[in-house]
Amino acid sequence: MPRRIIERNRWLRSDGKPNFKDRICAKPPELEAIADKEIPLLSMQATVINACEVMSSLGTRLVPITDPERRLLGIITGMDLVDYFGGGIKYAIVLKHYGGKLYPALSASLREIANTKPLAVDVKSRLHDLLNLMISYGVGALPVVDNNAVIGIITEGSLIKYLSSKVVGVKVSEVMSTSVISLSYSNTLGVAMKLMINLGIRRLPITKNGDVIGIVTWRDIIDLFGKHKIFNMLKEFTFDEVHLLPVTEVMNTNIATIGPDEDIGIAAAKMSELGVDSLLVIKDNNIIGIITERDILYGVVAR
Ligand code: AMP
Repeated sequence: MPRRIIERNRWLRSDGKPNFKDRICAKPPELEAIADKEIPLLSMQATVINACEVMSSLGTRLVPITDPERRLLGIITGMDLVDYFGGGIKYAIVLKHYGGKLYPALSASLREIANTKPLAVDVKSRLHDLLNLMISYGVGALPVVDNNAVIGIITEGSLIKYLSSKVVGVKVSEVMSTSVISLSYSNTLGVAMKLMINLGIRRLPITKNGDVIGIVTWRDIIDLFGKHKIFNMLKEFTFDEVHLLPVTEVMNTNIATIGPDEDIGIAAAKMSELGVDSLLVIKDNNIIGIITERDILYGVVAR
């Protein structure tokens, strides 16, 4: 089982609070400087395909949903969309309201699937409070609000960049997940999406005869829709067809790797250089772990 499921509390002290390192608490930083402000806001009337297009073109994993005054009404994440496309219980909406048909389901308004009770962080909060929220609730991205108006989002990736000078002195092997969940190449996209939602992981290495031949991530799935690739892959334009796509048609074959003894600072630099948010950890040609932005962030602030 992945750490996210079985080790959710490993970053917490016995009193249930994250165990922050002094170096993080020492300096009250500005969330304003960390927030990514180049993000679009969507309205509740925007559609599922709009959300995919925005996530694909801007590479963002969370889009705030606001009213015209930028007041936060909800959020939509990449994993909400994977859930809706068949990975989880939101798929019931596709079946019940849209008969499993692709175009009507993609034209659904975000009102139907958005999380309408989102966590958010006030821009005047301290970094400590933000990390507390992220770790306690296990979320990797949050909207940032100022006087009730959304001004941006903060993700694990933006925090790693901000903290990059402090990302030293910890080895990859100390923070990686060691039980890597992978999927055989003969599986379908439907199986991959269900596994991701059920286990709360956003990526799955794909194996063939014991070798990793690719990796399928939440982003590859969103890009199918957001970059309109899906429209050239189907005949009937139903979600049944989407689920039956071989996972090999969706996976990414650029596999980014790192050694277990490297510093997590090197891992962070490699992720940002390659534009990925995870690395497979390899020793003697074997996969011995996986490290994601979350593992690096927690390794810096809460080990
Ligand atoms: P993510 O949401 O993918 O950034 O990952 C959250 C947590 O799950 C991190 O601790 C990862 O190391 C772990 N994780 C992600 N993908 C996998 C996987 N395929 N197998 C095992 N652990 C994973």
